[in-house]
Order: sequence, then structure tokens, then C-alpha cells
Amino acid sequence: MQTIHNYIGGKFQEPKTKNYLPIYNPATGEIYAQLPDSDSEDVELAVQSGQEAFLSWSSLSKEVRANYLLKIADGIERRLDYFAEAESNDNGKPLSLAKAVDIPRAISNFRFFAGALQHFSSESHSMEENAINYTLRDPLGVVACISPWNLPLYLFTWKIAPALAMGNCVVAKPSEVTPATSHLFAEVCQEIKLPAGVLNLVHGYGHNAGEALVKHPLVPAVSFTGGTKTGAHIASIAAPMFKKISLELGGKNPNIIFADCSWELALETSLRAAFSNQGQICLSGSRIFIERPIYEKFKEEFVRRAKLLKVGDPLDSQTNQGAVVSFDHYQKILSFINRAKEEGLTILAGGKAVELTGRCARGWFIEPTIIEGAGSESSLNQEEVFGPLVTLNPFDKEEEVLEYANSTPYGLASCLWTENLSRAHRMSKQLKSGIVWVNCWMLRDLRTPFGGMKNSGTGREGGWEALRFFTEPKNVCIQY
Ligand code: NDP
Repeated sequence: MQTIHNYIGGKFQEPKTKNYLPIYNPATGEIYAQLPDSDSEDVELAVQSGQEAFLSWSSLSKEVRANYLLKIADGIERRLDYFAEAESNDNGKPLSLAKAVDIPRAISNFRFFAGALQHFSSESHSMEENAINYTLRDPLGVVACISPWNLPLYLFTWKIAPALAMGNCVVAKPSEVTPATSHLFAEVCQEIKLPAGVLNLVHGYGHNAGEALVKHPLVPAVSFTGGTKTGAHIASIAAPMFKKISLELGGKNPNIIFADCSWELALETSLRAAFSNQGQICLSGSRIFIERPIYEKFKEEFVRRAKLLKVGDPLDSQTNQGAVVSFDHYQKILSFINRAKEEGLTILAGGKAVELTGRCARGWFIEPTIIEGAGSESSLNQEEVFGPLVTLNPFDKEEEVLEYANSTPYGLASCLWTENLSRAHRMSKQLKSGIVWVNCWMLRDLRTPFGGMKNSGTGREGGWEALRFFTEPKNVCIQY
């Protein structure tokens, strides 16, 4: 059985406890590897090793640091197929998706921040009193990066790349459910001779290794992506210690379709926004609002196409929908479906687990599920399911749909389909979410601020926002 190790001070190491946790392949339901069950002792070693590397790493020129980032990107790219297979086995997502999206995006994260670092400049403000202010932006030290299981390498590197770019050392904890590609990533860092201690990986449970990292007094900043409840807990630890925090949390995103939309594009993209990655994307359009005149027509075609999605072995190139990430998560999604049935809602498509044969006979698969009749206040329209389950909801007026859209505690992303330019601008301004996509979904420019409002988090990632987060600004005022 394959064993994953912590990566501390440039070396692969056992956890101090010598305890390991099982890693499951969600498509087969079988244990295929094990990972360290690390605790505060391992975190201590990792933070120390980051501290030892910090001075020399942060003193390197921007160009040299950028070159390391580019070498990491090249190292991942050389093994793209291998990374994609590992991601698919670990997470249950279709191999085709890992190859086309997850791993290429991890590569882009490093290339993007290698470039951004070299264009980054801090602010300067001149004053009429013959004075000039300039802002120094120094790296913070050893920072924590904690990421979830849905887009494992993609989100992990989205934090690590800007942190390293700005001269910080990193102690990172990937989700214990999907650690495989982070381990391969550490191999790449070793291969390209990233100086020891600059990047450290500690594997294990969030409540154990993750929490020890958040609590560590020598870690001044925590960049976290995960559930809202975990984010609140992390904030409660970090706030009294006055740490910087960036929290990218859950979402319950509205996808609003007006009758004047570009029909085919709206339909096809809404299907992707609903079910890509088995609906396990924080940005998924899981509440679909359709203007009444096209409601029935949209419903019929959306349901027809959802039923054509092939749920199957993630390694099969014909598969559209793979397995959901874990048995616990599988049960959680099914419990939402059962609740909908108990409430007498209409299940237009799906509504049950899929039992495959052969290699995947014991895997965790769920049909793309479409539900009609849930009120805007119902749990199905308020709570994040994070699975292949969406609701269809008719509306009559712009003000009405705006109220529905903004009615959840979340505020991550919204999607809007209309050819009416004024309406697009008007609604974009009023939607309470950190991201609004008009006539598109998941179209990402890495320079833009990424993140949510309300219970979807605090702070923004991407572009200058990420580079600034990983620095401590200091204003110097000189009068002449
Ligand atoms: P969790 O909040 O359960 O976990 C996220 C990470 O935090 C994991 O590495 C986890 O470790 C760790 N963790 C858990 N408890 C603690 C703790 N007390 N201290 C420190 N670290 C801890 O989220 P999931 O992994 O279940 O991911 C799904 C969630 O992530 C969804 O709500 C989704 O919306 C959100 N998400 C948000 C995104 C955004 O950009 N806004 C993007 C993608 C996902 P372990 O795995 O061991 O529990």
C-alpha cells in the first residue's frame, strides 16, 4: 500500500505518533493508501523549519523566487497525466476533468504568480506639505495554508503560490480526504531543489494538525478554504491572537435565467454549473431561478439533458459524473434527497444512489438530481448541499428574484442570464455576492478579486489581493 509522508525541512518524514489514516478511492470504496495522522509535534517541526528558511528565502531577488515558481509549474506539467490520475483516484472526479481543469489550473497558479510578483509594486502617496509616503510590503514569515477536498491541488496551490512569491515560507495542510496530489507536489518541490523549509506539508485531521497550525504563535497568517462552520471556528482562534485571516467558505449560489437569455448557452452552462465535479464546487449554481414564460420549456430540456449525463467509472473517458468524495459525504447528500422526498417535493431527475458493477461496485455514486417545489426558505434552498443536487424555481419579476437570490446566509457567487444590458448592470450591483457572472460561469481571470461576502467568508484571493494578503504593509512618511 502506498504511504504518504509529511514533507518537512525538504525531507519526507513519518509523523511523530507513527500513526496513519486510511485514504479511500471513492470510485471503488477501497482503501488504497495511508497518510500521517500528524499532531502538534509535527506542526512544531514544520514551523521551525519554515522559520529557519525564512531569512534566506525572503532575501532572494524577485526574479529568483519567480524562477522557482516557474520550475514548480514545469515540474507539475511534466507529470500532468500522473497528477491527473492521482487526483481522480483520490477524489472520485472524472479523469478527463482532472486533466482538463484541476492540474492545468495548478500549473497556471504558479505561472501567474511568478509573473505577478515581478509586476507587483507597493503604493506611494505624496503630500502638499513637502512629504512623501511609501508603503513597504514585507513578507509575514511562516504562514498557514489550509485547503479542502473538492479541487485539491487547484485550491492548495492557489494559496501556496502567492505566499511563496511574496517571500513567505509555508506550512500547508491539505484535506485529509484528498492528500495524494499535495504529496506529488512536494516531490516536485524536492526535485526542483526548492530550498529546504520553504514549503512544508503536514498531513492529518483538521481538528488535530490543522488546528495546531492555526494556534501556533509563530504563524501570523492563515489562509483557509473550506466550510463556513470550520471557518468560524478558525476565526475564533485566530482573532484573539490578531492573526491575518483569509476565509473562503461555502456558497449557495443563485443561477438566474431571464426569458431573453441566449437559450443554448444558458442551458448548457447551467448544466455544467449544476453538476460539474458532482456539484462539489463552492461556485456551483445550485439554485436555478427561471423566468415564468420559459420555465416549462427550460425545465423539460434541462431535465432531459441531465438524464443523459453518464455516471460512471471516473477513469472512463465517456463518464460525465464520477463518485462523490467520501462515504460520509455520500450519506449527507442522500439525506438531503430523502428530506425532499419526505416533504413531498417533486424529483424531476435522479433522486437516488447509482449502483455500478465491476471495479466501481462499491463506490459512492449519486444521480444528478433536480428538485422542484422547494420554497425559497426551505433547507434545500438555504443550506449548502455540495453535491449533484439543484432546485428549479420559477419567478415573475426582477425584484422578486433579487430577493430570493439574496435570501441565504451565503454570498459567494451569482450567475445571471439576460441579453438586457441595463438589467445586467442593475442586478449585478444589487446581488449580494463577491462574484457575479453574466452570461457565463467559472470564467476566471486570475487577476480579479475572488471570494465571498456574508457567511461565504472574509478577504479576497487572486491577483494583487492575494499578494497583499501575504505581506505586512508599513507606511514610511518622509518630509523634505
Ligand atoms: P472543511 O471545512 O471540513 O475542511 C477544510 C480544511 O480545513 C480541511 O483541510 C480540514 O481538514 C481542515 N480543518 C477542519 N477543521 C479544522 C480546524 N479545526 N482547524 C484547522 N483546519 C481544520 O471543508 P471541506 O473539506 O468539507 O470542503 C468543503 C467546503 O469547502 C464547502 O463548504 C465548500 O463550499 C468550501 N469551499 C469553498 C471555496 C471557496 O473558495 N469559497 C472553494 C472550495 C470549497 P480535514 O479534511 O481533516 O477535516
